[in-house]
Amino acid sequence: MSTCVVTGGAGFLGSHLCDYLLGQGHRVICVDNLETGSLQNIEHIRDAAFEFRNIDITEHVDLPEDVDFVYHLASPASPIDYLRLPLHTLKVGSHGTHHMLGVAKFKRARFLLASTSEVYGDPEVHPQTEDYWGHVNPIGPRGVYDEAKRYAEALTMAYHRQQGVDTSIVRIFNTYGPRMRAHDGRAIPTFMRQALEDRPLTVFGEGEQTRSFCYVDDLIRGIVALAESDVHSPVNIGNPNEFTLLELAKKVIEVTESRSEIVFEPLPVDDPQQRRPDIARARDLLGWEPAVELLDGLRMTIERSGVDRLAGASD
Ligand code: NAD
Repeated sequence: MSTCVVTGGAGFLGSHLCDYLLGQGHRVICVDNLETGSLQNIEHIRDAAFEFRNIDITEHVDLPEDVDFVYHLASPASPIDYLRLPLHTLKVGSHGTHHMLGVAKFKRARFLLASTSEVYGDPEVHPQTEDYWGHVNPIGPRGVYDEAKRYAEALTMAYHRQQGVDTSIVRIFNTYGPRMRAHDGRAIPTFMRQALEDRPLTVFGEGEQTRSFCYVDDLIRGIVALAESDVHSPVNIGNPNEFTLLELAKKVIEVTESRSEIVFEPLPVDDPQQRRPDIARARDLLGWEPAVELLDGLRMTIERSGVDRLAGASD
């Protein structure tokens, strides 16, 4: 049994990671300040090996026990959140990541940074391989998130090279599943909420921009495989099947059997036009690949979330 610290453990991905690690027989310390997460995401956990600690990781982080793994997921992640919390987002990526790397160093733990496909910005290379350095606007409104993650990656590699910390970096591509917040502004929960209420689905631009959507169970399996490997270089984890936003909207209408129509709204600033992971490295080094198709994943999201939560009744 290993002891795993999960920062951001009360968030969407973090709570699924806590479930998975507990299922593997590990002890889990969930560290979260509930800034964008919720106790509702972890209230189902009844396991003596699980503990929640309300800590803001941008402040001092002190953990008395031995730790084997630090999974560092804490950060505002949806555009609605990081545009509302620009300074906090930069601080979590910088001070927060410093603190958690310090914990990993002191405890001699394996460290995993949850980075993002947003480090590639609006990419000129398609699909995105880990060798691509990105095309990010540092001073646009989204820069607070993209640059915080790029800084966190640089910091992680510096702790690895200079301090000998055992680190890993996962570049997460768009992920969906139960416990996404209905009002967090990301495409799938927004479309689902609108479809379940039979209201128009709002597609930005012409809806021709593409995304690749990974079901949460596939992603968590990939994250843990990376943490338990000896790989230090960044690894893309995501589903390479690519859809336009318009295709996604139509699939959501299909699975929800909604009567909604589709309407078009102006594109947000610096919205990437294409997004698709090259997952050759994950396949080669981890033997990982996603298994869940989009329509199945959308159906499982509805079944496992319940219509009330998807429609935003408990947000
Ligand atoms: P989320 O907002 O649901 O979870 C983030 C969690 O971090 C929340 O529980 C929040 O309260 C916590 N947190 C924020 N600031 C904190 C602080 N100072 N101290 C302690 N806890 C703090 O978002 P998510 O979608 O679960 O994302 C988790 C991680 O994965 C993030 O680092 C995000 O950048 C990354 N990621 C997610 C996606 C995705 O599709 N969901 C894609 C790329 C990267």
